[in-house]
Amino acid sequence: MELAPHLHRLGTDIVACYLFDSPEGITLIDAGLPGHWSDLQQELDALGKTPADIRGLILTHGDSDHIGFAERLRRDHGVPVYVHSADAHRARTGEKPKAPAGPMRPAPALGFFWYGLRKNGLRTEYLKEVTEISDGDVLALPGSPVIIAMPGHSPGSVAVHLPSVDAVCVGDALTTRHVLTGRTGPQPAPFTDHPAQALASLDRLTHLTTSWILPGHGAPWHGTPTDLTATIRTAAH
Ligand SMILES: [Zn+2]
Repeated sequence: MELAPHLHRLGTDIVACYLFDSPEGITLIDAGLPGHWSDLQQELDALGKTPADIRGLILTHGDSDHIGFAERLRRDHGVPVYVHSADAHRARTGEKPKAPAGPMRPAPALGFFWYGLRKNGLRTEYLKEVTEISDGDVLALPGSPVIIAMPGHSPGSVAVHLPSVDAVCVGDALTTRHVLTGRTGPQPAPFTDHPAQALASLDRLTHLTTSWILPGHGAPWHGTPTDLTATIRTAAH
């Protein structure tokens, strides 16, 4: 699905990842669940591209619903996978502290788990190799993505700013659709290691003037990070 010229979304409001396309090649942000591999193939076909055009995959964090096809892309197509050093272990092993899920409603929660099953969420392949990144890095990939550390959801959560398309991918630093309650609108994400730290990290976005904020779960949000942060702080109280 094309969000804007050069900017595409794979997946749905339940689980999404993003593709930046340019004449220099493709940058991916997140890898969804293993079954999103076929969504990636469809999007590449529609663009007249192949996995050989993908220059790199940046993970917003190391959780299993974001690393889906990453190892397959790395192993079979030689695509480097970037993750913040504080989440590299999680991306390699899946080990993480147990974070409280918080509120839940049966139908949306079942919808999330069912979607996960259909997309082979139980067959996570962890990364054998990653390239570690840190706050402030500007990666030598199409779109010159800028890494903004957003600790809280996980220690190595990052936002990925793509200045040329006026967008920032935020992973689970926030959500616009709570996967377990189905509630829509900007709000804190569930399964967050340190909720207070995640809220504080939102301030790290407010210097951006981007008009697209792209979460790992929920609809793309059109507006400035400053407005979004204010909405989330209200929702969190
Ligand atoms: Zn997630």
